Amino acid sequence: QTVLTSKAKDPYPDWKPGEPVPYAALCKTFSLVELTTKRLIIMEHCSLFLRQVLRLTPDDLLPTVLLMINKLAPDYAGIELGIGESLIMKAIGETTGRSLAVIKQDQKEIGDLGLVAVKSRSTQPTMFKPKALTIQGVLKGLMGIATVSGNGAQGRKVDGIKKLLSAADANSTTGKVDITKDKGGPSEAKYLVRFLEGKLRLGLAERTVLVSLAQAMVAHEATQKGQVPSTADLEKGESILKTVYSELPSYDVIIPAMVKYGIMNLREHCKLRPGVPLKPMLAKPTKAITEVLDRFDGQTFTCEYKYDGERAQIHYVAKDAGEELSQSLPSATTEAGRGVASIFSRNSEDLSKKYPDILAKLHTWVKEDTKSFVLDCESVAWDVDEKKVLPFQQLMTRKKKDVKIDDVKVKVCVFAFDLLYLNGESIVEKSLRERRDLLVKSFQPVEGEFSFATSMNGQELEEIQVFLDESVKASCEGLMVKMLDGTESGYEPSKRSRNWLKIKKDYLSGIGDSLDLVVLGAYYGKGKRTSVYGAFLLACYNPISDTYETVCNIGTGFSEAVLEELHAALSETVIDRPKPFYAHSAGGQHQPDVWFEPRFVWEVKTADLTLSPRYKAGMKEGVDPSGEKGISLRFPRFIKIRDDKKPDEATSSRQVAEMYRKQESVTKSKGPAVDDDF
Ligand code: ATP
Repeated sequence: QTVLTSKAKDPYPDWKPGEPVPYAALCKTFSLVELTTKRLIIMEHCSLFLRQVLRLTPDDLLPTVLLMINKLAPDYAGIELGIGESLIMKAIGETTGRSLAVIKQDQKEIGDLGLVAVKSRSTQPTMFKPKALTIQGVLKGLMGIATVSGNGAQGRKVDGIKKLLSAADANSTTGKVDITKDKGGPSEAKYLVRFLEGKLRLGLAERTVLVSLAQAMVAHEATQKGQVPSTADLEKGESILKTVYSELPSYDVIIPAMVKYGIMNLREHCKLRPGVPLKPMLAKPTKAITEVLDRFDGQTFTCEYKYDGERAQIHYVAKDAGEELSQSLPSATTEAGRGVASIFSRNSEDLSKKYPDILAKLHTWVKEDTKSFVLDCESVAWDVDEKKVLPFQQLMTRKKKDVKIDDVKVKVCVFAFDLLYLNGESIVEKSLRERRDLLVKSFQPVEGEFSFATSMNGQELEEIQVFLDESVKASCEGLMVKMLDGTESGYEPSKRSRNWLKIKKDYLSGIGDSLDLVVLGAYYGKGKRTSVYGAFLLACYNPISDTYETVCNIGTGFSEAVLEELHAALSETVIDRPKPFYAHSAGGQHQPDVWFEPRFVWEVKTADLTLSPRYKAGMKEGVDPSGEKGISLRFPRFIKIRDDKKPDEATSSRQVAEMYRKQESVTKSKGPAVDDDF
């Protein structure tokens, strides 16, 4: 914990106070991080560097943190680089005067485009010395690449990459770099390319950067007072920053406030606010009502229908809300009734252009004295004639962008199940019972437009069974069972919590839940399926090592039409060889015919989980005492594409291991809530 009290000297004394932070200094830190797998040492490198930035150039703290977490902006800003391997190879070739064929050959041999860039770079004669890269300059350059649009966008993206690459390693004195040593060393080109690919591959989880940032800040503040940071202060700072970030996941807002007001005062200045979507609270799976009763064991809980649609977080501020309106971020700009509103998805994407019909009717269900709110809801396809909800498949057919209200074919109804913010105040710490009361007081149901999630507070097994049957008859997926009173019933942003359990009707006899997996590769079809892929290699995600771990091959559950659709989409993402961050069996007979960029997430059902030497899922979770086998799915079946999940939001290795262990022995899970997004 007290890494900052170690005697390590400031390792990067090479820029003057107030000067822009050199990108080379960050790359030096990255190279030190890359050489270890020990979390404490990784954290020490990061904190020391961030502390140095705070001491010398605090204005650069935000861009530094962004480059460390491989992001250009918060998720809701919707800014993505959108660059495939081929564009990067083109840029490397053109910058270094090597042909694309040579670059491709190198990539085949080395398998890491970052190192290919290092190798290409070190053979390049330097005619003139470009200006060294700074952190601000790199972020600006990358932002330029991400936001290019319109005609010739691809070409201009390549130009942007070339500009950065040709300035990379300007001050390097090492001459020819041996890429087999020290993982290629602190090369700027290597980390630039990896940033462009979306994976720095340092084993540097976002959560580690957050903790390092808190430690750096506490240490910096202590040093300014001529003190040594105490363990208690380090822990307090870490806890404050974690809480603040879970309610307001935007470094753009948090970092300037932290520098200005100090980390210990951050909670007063950074609270949940309309316009910044928070990561939703998630549930743990269960496979029997008795398991639910065991879990809550005498504490009051409530059951709600589990609607089968799309999660929607609705943010709203009335135009006459005064100061609050001016504080809410510009993302909340869609006019809605008497105010402005935004709708965000499960992964913080702005859905306002998908659901203009919800925004247009919002004024009919928001009561007049409700001036601002953040609602957690499910948007569900609605049958206007029969006045009932429709299965998820109907919602899938709805257009995803630029929907015109007059053209809406699939009508949706909003089912609200939680209220997180009301009239200028965050209410996440109130009990669910209190939040529900406020929800009911602040909104009014309008048939086919807005409804409260159907709920039932009975505590008996038979009552729950009846309610579960009713939910399924009403086209729902099953039940959500939630702690109702006390501090444990508070809303826990970004947590997969034991205080929310899901019971899905389909899984009562299976493993309790479906899995959301990333498609890494495919096998050509046989017989009727020769023109498409017939089977696929899927993986779960390990956020600690930042790798995708294979978990099954799948060839069941696909219609011919779906196979064709998948073939078309996946063909665009084919790569020559597996990415270095794919954990898969290297043996020849298990190789898929083609590999893909990690882009698509699919929901998959399975009969049960088993151990197999062929797959790598959960190997680091200690499920196999011999350490040779991973977890794999038996009889996996494709259910649907999960557009609302990014690859790093796929089911995690730890969740797969939890499911495996639970099936081994159906004992009470006493584990703590886990963060879902780290
Ligand atoms: P994960 O598999 O990661 O838990 P998911 O999106 O697949 O995420 P589900 O297993 O379907 O989640 O269960 C949780 C989801 O159920 C929520 O994200 C929400 O979209 C939906 N939902 C429907 N009704 C409710 C409800 N009453 N309370 C909470 N969530 C609900």
